[in-house]
Amino acid sequence: MESSSAELSVYLRYLGRYVPSLGFLRSGESSLSGTEQFPLSREPISAGIPGDLAALERKSQSCRACSLCETRTNVVFGEGSGKSGLMFVGEGPGADEDRTGRPFVGRAGELLTKMIQAMGLSREEVYIANTVKCRPPGNRVPSPEERAACFPFLEAQIRLLNPRYMILLGQTAAQVVLKQTEGITRIRGKSFEIGEFPRIRIMPTYHPAYLLRNPSAKKEVWADLQTVMGWMGRSFGQRTEGR
Ligand code: SF4
Repeated sequence: MESSSAELSVYLRYLGRYVPSLGFLRSGESSLSGTEQFPLSREPISAGIPGDLAALERKSQSCRACSLCETRTNVVFGEGSGKSGLMFVGEGPGADEDRTGRPFVGRAGELLTKMIQAMGLSREEVYIANTVKCRPPGNRVPSPEERAACFPFLEAQIRLLNPRYMILLGQTAAQVVLKQTEGITRIRGKSFEIGEFPRIRIMPTYHPAYLLRNPSAKKEVWADLQTVMGWMGRSFGQRTEGR
């Protein structure tokens, strides 16, 4: 799961090119042309990001900015109204998601749905997305190049939705959004606010797929969810409408 220093270097240089606040990371990138990094696309996604979610989703449907386009069945853009102000970000689509075009619909998705319901919310009231929109073959972890290529979609989703709270599900989501390499075990349960997405309170926690393999970690995730519920002014069993 850990990135090699070479992979991380490519990822950071990509971010430096397309995330204005990280422009200082661009130094020394001259040996990596856009063609070398993204051989499947003439230009990066960020060259033409639409101003609304529906148009952004339409753009994603034909995206060929990384090699995951070669093996996908469906692009899994994301779903939900987000009217609660809460957004979840996972790693990437699995087989069920690739087949249906919807995020978190397999076994891990069923568990995420229960987590959302335990917070007194419905799936429709939150927004659910992933760091990459196309399934990595064999459910492998998306590479730094794939994460970087797809980041403009996630960044645009966050900016367009403007959630107040974000829960990052697993290490990949935490690395992509928080731009750090710390293991999820060390940072879960902590509150983050980052300059790139000001005024969003961010909580990393374990991915539901990890909970399926390690049920004993559910109590830690529940504690994290309760912390977010506290941020939202919610108590256990409470249902409220809107933000
Ligand atoms: S994973 Fe993202 S960047 Fe790669 S082809 Fe799919 S939509 Fe495009």
